[in-house]
Amino acid sequence: MENFLFFVALLSASVQAFIGLAYCVSCVWEKESRAAFFSTLQFILMLGLVLALIYLERIGFFSTEAGRLLLILGLISGVVLCVLLMRKTGQNARALEGTRGAIVGDVKRVDERDVVFARNRTIRPGSEQYRAYYAMRPEYEKMDAARRKKGGPLGQPGAIDKPKDRPNIAATLSSQGIALNLSASETYQPAAHPEFKEQRVEISPQEASRRIKGYTLNLGAKQVGITKINPLWLYSKRGEIFRENWEDWGKEIEATHTYAVVFTTEMAFELVGTAPHTPTVIASMSNYAQGAFIATQLAAYVANLGYSATANHLRHYDAALVPLAVDAGLGETGRLGYLMTKDFGPRVRLAAVTTDLELVVDSPVDIGVEDFCKRCKKCANCCPSNSIPLADPTEVNGTLRWKLNAETCFDYWGKVGTDCNVCMRVCPWSHANTFPHKIIRTLISRNRLSRRLFYFMDDIFYGRKPTSKPAPQWARFS
Ligand code: SF4
Ligand code: SF4
Repeated sequence: MENFLFFVALLSASVQAFIGLAYCVSCVWEKESRAAFFSTLQFILMLGLVLALIYLERIGFFSTEAGRLLLILGLISGVVLCVLLMRKTGQNARALEGTRGAIVGDVKRVDERDVVFARNRTIRPGSEQYRAYYAMRPEYEKMDAARRKKGGPLGQPGAIDKPKDRPNIAATLSSQGIALNLSASETYQPAAHPEFKEQRVEISPQEASRRIKGYTLNLGAKQVGITKINPLWLYSKRGEIFRENWEDWGKEIEATHTYAVVFTTEMAFELVGTAPHTPTVIASMSNYAQGAFIATQLAAYVANLGYSATANHLRHYDAALVPLAVDAGLGETGRLGYLMTKDFGPRVRLAAVTTDLELVVDSPVDIGVEDFCKRCKKCANCCPSNSIPLADPTEVNGTLRWKLNAETCFDYWGKVGTDCNVCMRVCPWSHANTFPHKIIRTLISRNRLSRRLFYFMDDIFYGRKPTSKPAPQWARFS
């Protein structure tokens, strides 16, 4: 009997030591020196336990009454701890309803012209649109004029790393150009290839969904989900103009499509780790380029099947994509206002295709984000412009959520000349998607006690205010 108990105890301790070692290796690979130090200590302790068990067995301690009792108590507490940390605890009913669960009042569709990027990037001083817009929204005029004075809508690109930043900004602009090149209306809203004209493919929603999801993942997306479009998340009026198509500015956006295929791409962990320095914008922009690349091809694929489709990417949005992604089951909205996914946290970018092709929809998910964010607050504590709320969710435009202050966030972007991404870098869900982090993500997405434990551990291993990491060699300043 004691042989069996000893074998089980040794096996469990060895599995823990192996996970500890994997975590140690992961921390070194992630260049997380503080976490590497603590994980090495943790591994030494686990290894010590394995060696102690072997030693005690050799000297015959487990054949004694006290030894047997110790083995039994150790195993019982191990099993109890596993059950406590692994069992699925109460679900968040609101999250399972997707964005509907957050609606508490009257929601008004957002006018894209009011979005801080659209105002500052699109409207030119002295133009007819300038006069019309600021007559309608005088409260923004002074603020936006001050931004323009500071060197344009986004300030001086790479200002935080000047004068060494040129190569990284050059890389950023190269990716940015891809999305712009794909923003002609005939490209984001393609017609069927001449070969397929007038030949609508009759396809079941199940088969269409399977093919579309497979095609999207094959093009490089990390996750893909489908939802019926809640018209509340469509912009009411067009506000972003990139190709001098001024007749579109202020035009009503109509709900022409029923479904949205929403997908994520993963931002490179090592580039986001440098936030708010220039390498992080390379990650953002190359992901926008990838999103545009995938969405454009997916829209063309749907058009070639004989259905209408519109690619939504950095240079053409009909809708706000975070709520569509939540409804499509890709994750939940976090304190920082971004989509939080199970595998990459907020370290993703979104793009989508809307269509009238009938598809099978996915269900929203509860991965424990709301519960985790309520305690964590790391993004809010680290945000250099205090743009992320520390308080609980409040009612914003008829929905209960955390509301990022886009105006102050945007001003900080202008100051550093990058898209900052500090909140994304410090988020405990953003760690690299390695084996030990996958285990932790699985635990925190299903169990409340695990959320408490790993929120606390994240502070110990990574610090309450983690600092940025060095860029990968190729993106480093010489
Ligand atoms: S991007 Fe930077 S400034 Fe904006 S909310 Fe995140 S941490 Fe704050
Ligand atoms: S840093 Fe913490 S509070 Fe902020 S989004 Fe991530 S988990 Fe939520």
